[in-house]
Amino acid sequence: MKNIKSVYFNEFGFSFLGNLLQEKNYSKIFILVDENTNQFCLSLFLSELATETSIEVIEIEAGEEFKNIETCTQVWYALSELGADRKSLIINLGGGVVTDLGGFVASTYMRGVDFVNVPTTLLAMVDASVGGKTGVDLGALKNQIGLINNPLLVIIDSRFLATLPAEQLRSGMAEMFKHGLIQSESYWGKMLNLSNLTLDDLDALIYESVLIKNNVVEQDPTEKSLRKTLNFGHTLGHAIESYCLQNTDRQTLLHGEAIAIGMVLAGFLSVEKLNFPKEKCFEIKETLSQYFEKQYFKQEEIEEIVNLMKFDKKNSHGNINFVLLEDIAKPKLDCLIEKELIYRAFNYYM
Ligand code: NAD
Ligand code: ZN
Repeated sequence: MKNIKSVYFNEFGFSFLGNLLQEKNYSKIFILVDENTNQFCLSLFLSELATETSIEVIEIEAGEEFKNIETCTQVWYALSELGADRKSLIINLGGGVVTDLGGFVASTYMRGVDFVNVPTTLLAMVDASVGGKTGVDLGALKNQIGLINNPLLVIIDSRFLATLPAEQLRSGMAEMFKHGLIQSESYWGKMLNLSNLTLDDLDALIYESVLIKNNVVEQDPTEKSLRKTLNFGHTLGHAIESYCLQNTDRQTLLHGEAIAIGMVLAGFLSVEKLNFPKEKCFEIKETLSQYFEKQYFKQEEIEEIVNLMKFDKKNSHGNINFVLLEDIAKPKLDCLIEKELIYRAFNYYM
């Protein structure tokens, strides 16, 4: 596998990091982990890390509910107490929560120190760790605080996935499906048939997914147009994710689980608005239903979800903007959708 810009795979990643550490002569290395990546990923990572520089480990609590400014404060204090300076390096070893939050902390501590992402979930490998978006949630509002700043390097090594729970693996697959839907019919085709998947196949699919994301981000780093297509399924998906997180009587959904629902809904809206072929919309629904358990929403819940969308950063002047599909790999931006159609989309999904 070739490297993709600053994304390096497997042993190439670790040897590149080794060289970087020699060249840059950092004062100290701080590895940010959560409880799980401390337990499951740190020893493998350390066994591959060749350096004389002293290392400190900072642990945060695991889970989206800790992706907030309070956790950042804890990490800023820990860095300060452990003597981090502008010549320090932060290595984010974890899922999207650790890479998003760690990237933000690194970008703001002393006006910014270097950081490296080592994603340990499938979702973080194919999506969160690449593209430079960093940040945290504000209450139930996802990723409301943040900035764009690229890591020096991303190391992707699928050995970390060995301990990842199955539902987390599926959550990451949702973003891989999305990459096919918005950019590549052939990749979507490969994702339709995942039976007898070997580790090598998975590596190749991860590689291609990162390639798609990186291409999009490179062409439009500041999300003026093309990058917005990565939000396919996310307008409603984020609102569903926020709604479930906020409501104690609802089971919280993983990011990919919510986005999978969002993609089916966006598929329906695409049929209605852009003549996206009905049978392809059905294919999306059927394929995703093999991986993601159906969720049911009451009328009043759908209303609350629609209300939450008004706060999504991608919307302006009270309009709800969607990325829809004219066809597979033919996304269309800025499709304005009226409320009524959203209710019908939920009916189609359920
Ligand atoms: P996560 O970081 O919460 O990880 C999921 C769970 O898996 C956590 O409990 C974690 O501790 C555990 N875990 C991580 N690696 C493990 C391993 N190897 N073995 C066992 N357990 C492990 O969540 P995620 O799904 O990786 O990422 C979701 C986050 O990513 C969301 O906050 C989302 O907003 C963000 N995101 C960001 C971008 C971006 O462009 N920056 C893109 C997509 C998603
Ligand atoms: Zn996503």
